[in-house]
Amino acid sequence: MIPVKGYAGQKVAVLGLGRSGLATAHALVAGEATPLLWDDSAEARANAEAEGFFCTDLTRAGAFDGVAALIVSPGIPHCYPTPNKIIARALELGLPIDNDIGLFFRSFAGPEWDDLDTTPRVVCVTGSNGKSTTTALIHHILEVAGRATQMAGNIGRGVLDIEPAQDGEVIVLELSSYQTELARSLTPDVAVFTNLSPDHLDRHNGMGGYFAAKRRLFAEGGPDRAIVGVDELEGQFLANQLSEGAQDDRVIRISSGQKLEGFGWSVFARKGFLAEWRRGKQVASIDLRAINGLPGAHNHQNACAAYAACRTLGLGPKLIEGALQSFAGLPHRSQMIGEIAGVRYVNDSKATNVDSASKALQAFANIRWIAGGMGKDGGIAALVPDLGAVVKAYLIGHSARDFALQLGDTPYEICETMARAVALAAQEAMPGDVVLLAPAAASFDQYPNFEKRGEDFISQVQIAQAKRT
Ligand code: ADP
Repeated sequence: MIPVKGYAGQKVAVLGLGRSGLATAHALVAGEATPLLWDDSAEARANAEAEGFFCTDLTRAGAFDGVAALIVSPGIPHCYPTPNKIIARALELGLPIDNDIGLFFRSFAGPEWDDLDTTPRVVCVTGSNGKSTTTALIHHILEVAGRATQMAGNIGRGVLDIEPAQDGEVIVLELSSYQTELARSLTPDVAVFTNLSPDHLDRHNGMGGYFAAKRRLFAEGGPDRAIVGVDELEGQFLANQLSEGAQDDRVIRISSGQKLEGFGWSVFARKGFLAEWRRGKQVASIDLRAINGLPGAHNHQNACAAYAACRTLGLGPKLIEGALQSFAGLPHRSQMIGEIAGVRYVNDSKATNVDSASKALQAFANIRWIAGGMGKDGGIAALVPDLGAVVKAYLIGHSARDFALQLGDTPYEICETMARAVALAAQEAMPGDVVLLAPAAASFDQYPNFEKRGEDFISQVQIAQAKRT
């Protein structure tokens, strides 16, 4: 755990008692502060009480008397679409609002670092898609290289829950736009921006707000080295703004598809090959085509980002290449479940938005596509150009009928449930087909989260397999 600095002897309110909220509460206590905890959910409060905390109703008048700051969990809105009432009250009072990421950056380094041989470093990864995969990949490569490393943030472990850094350790953090937007201190050594596509627009009041939230990771006085995906205008703008000119190698531009030769430092993937260029010369190349854990051009973009981050940390191309080969991939992201009678089953339950579903649809041929759930603004209209490889769509969940109207000539069937969709797709599939779950929708209409949706897909595939044997 990282004890929180700067609040010893003071009261600090904590709103939201999920994983990061509870880790924050423990870290505040370790820093000799008194946390005042609250969550609107009785279940979350009960969990906190089971860990030995008392809860304090922050909705009551005077609840912030004598309180130094309010620490907020990422899921709770502070401006858009409407602010949470407790946060609105803190704003009226002028009470500083922060999150666990801000507390981490103010608390992580200390005078004890003066005795270390190599100062620990923090790598942060943000972007619309590919954050978790890139974060896990950087962590994996560092582990293979024998470097001390810990991984946390949006990927499952609260940042304040990690152990204090060892000599030369590299901390790899995945940060969502909700996290970067609120953190009062955000000072990574290396920052990665994978890509940008519309997501969470209600929470950021549109694309400009969403981009602004992510850009905070690169604010003035920010990272020594920025790795920026330049396949969208926003990434090009960010890279441009962070560098003195095209030859400035503090910015490493990355791309999936573009040949980026005219820059001080770039890493790009084309036709399955990763290439690193420095000052007009290619310095390394890696064949990514046979790496099972990284299928598709979108994963090649992630490989470029992770490769670039590890290069800035001093690792050599050959070592990184070997580590890429042994990356198993993450569950629910283009995850190969197995092959039955020549048909492959792929779980991309994490494809909750149109961009990620589009990437999955481009990564395979002869697709029997399971899609649907709680569709987002615009449905799947933007996916029409990617439907060429889809043999048939099997639609589930709340948006099934809306999605059906946007499929053009692609054959489809409304299946309602995952069980029916998998059974029918398995029955109709021919050898060489891929049954792909890439819903292009949130899971909340039928499941508590995308993980449970992916697990249901896997169990239904197992049932289909049992029926055949
Ligand atoms: P995030 O943490 O940003 O949500 P993940 O690595 O968990 O990213 O992947 C989320 C979804 O996006 C998955 O469906 C995955 O297959 C897809 N994906 C992964 N990398 C990329 C990328 N670079 N561009 C677009 N989609 C991607």
